[in-house]
Amino acid sequence: MPGSTELPLKVAIIGSGPSGFYAAEALLRSGRIVEVTMIERLPVPYGLVRSGVAPDHPKLKQPILVYDRIARSAAFFFLGNVHVDRDIGMGELMDTHHAVVLACGAGTDRRLGIPGEKLPGSHPASEFVGWYNGHPDYHACTFDLAQEVAVIIGQGNVALDIARILVKPVDHLRHTDIAAHALDALAKSRIREVHIVGRRGPAQAKFTSQELSEIGEIAQCSAVVHPGDLDLSETCRIEAADKMSRNLAKNLETFRRFASGSSDAHRRCYFHFFRNPRQISGHRRVEGVRFARTRLTGEPFRQAAVDTEEFIDMPCGLVFRSIGYHGVPIAGLPFDDARGTIPHRDGRLIDPSGNAIRGLYATGWIKRGATGIIGTNRADSVATVASLLSDLPGLDTMPKSGSAGLAAMLAARGKRHVTYEEWLRIDETEVRTGRAKGKPREKMTRVQEMLAVCGAACD
Ligand code: NAP
Repeated sequence: MPGSTELPLKVAIIGSGPSGFYAAEALLRSGRIVEVTMIERLPVPYGLVRSGVAPDHPKLKQPILVYDRIARSAAFFFLGNVHVDRDIGMGELMDTHHAVVLACGAGTDRRLGIPGEKLPGSHPASEFVGWYNGHPDYHACTFDLAQEVAVIIGQGNVALDIARILVKPVDHLRHTDIAAHALDALAKSRIREVHIVGRRGPAQAKFTSQELSEIGEIAQCSAVVHPGDLDLSETCRIEAADKMSRNLAKNLETFRRFASGSSDAHRRCYFHFFRNPRQISGHRRVEGVRFARTRLTGEPFRQAAVDTEEFIDMPCGLVFRSIGYHGVPIAGLPFDDARGTIPHRDGRLIDPSGNAIRGLYATGWIKRGATGIIGTNRADSVATVASLLSDLPGLDTMPKSGSAGLAAMLAARGKRHVTYEEWLRIDETEVRTGRAKGKPREKMTRVQEMLAVCGAACD
């Protein structure tokens, strides 16, 4: 029984992004005899740190050093290239482990739900981000960078990442780990204007101050705000005056700087506010976006945008919908479709009657929604693991076969999994190939390539 310390507590973690690794760390540091099996759909680990963080933000990838240390623990087993639901069932994970922690993130984009959303030339943020970061799911995506004007809907940090990649001189990306196909395409890009559009005001934009300010420092690019847009309403002013929010004060200062600067550079990045997207227009492909002008209602800090009768048409050839991510349900488990998360109490999955489901836990974006920076996941995972450990007396008392049992099941099905040692071979190959081009690594963008390095036949 895990609680009585004789038998090792075997925990499966689904997902190898930050929340998964921080859960593994919390378990391995718990002082108990623990074995962690980390299951990842791709042959490569690290989730959004590898395929979400922008290539020109290498410092944000440093947590990988911590994750690598965790993964080298003798009690940690990585099973990459394994798709839960398809290759292995949740029931089988529960049978082979005392507990399962879902750390599978938010696998898809929120929908706008407006006409024209799927017109050619309109892309969800995840497609562009996955493409420039070499995620195998997106290597075949194409973006018409022969267009001169792009609109990004949404004012969060992902919108800023997309804007930077579009307007940065390509030579400033050459020595990053950006995917080779993206670098080639961006080298031929004719994009001149990027418009980042929010449905609420400058005081409600979700940018972090450093990321926003960085837009003003891009070579050969002007950041532009129409001064009229910075006329804050009374409630905005209350938010702006709030001494607690240093981020907001800095953002407003940055917007004011953008509003007073020149706009004569080769490329321009515009910020627009109070515009709610109502239609992506065009005949065969995107030709523009129709917005309703909005006004804010409600209490400070909780203000919502309501549409007025005024419409604004913005012609453009490309649209990126960067309005946040949404979780994907796992067969047989409860799911809150409105929030895109798994219902839980203190990290314990709960059924529709509100009862905790024994042995099942959640952490990260699938637990709290797609918010927060990488470090936010540490506290979140520590809290979930605390719930798990306090439940130990009530968990299954039988010995479990853990990673070995799971590996045997996969082998019997002819499913080749990738171990952490094999990932290190992929890693070494990527770093070597990158070094020859002056890049930190050249990412493999196809699962087959990755498996070939492991000496595995493709499946
Ligand atoms: P986000 O921060 O939640 O921003 C989403 C934006 O989309 C908001 O401006 C939101 O406006 C808008 N939006 C949502 N629904 C909309 C709709 N129906 N119509 C129009 N606009 C809509 O999401 P994100 O940019 O995807 O970022 C996700 C998380 O990753 C965030 O916590 C972010 O900070 C983090 N991240 C961090 C970094 C970094 O640290 N460098 C980089 C990338 C991402 P409302 O506010 O009005 O809802």
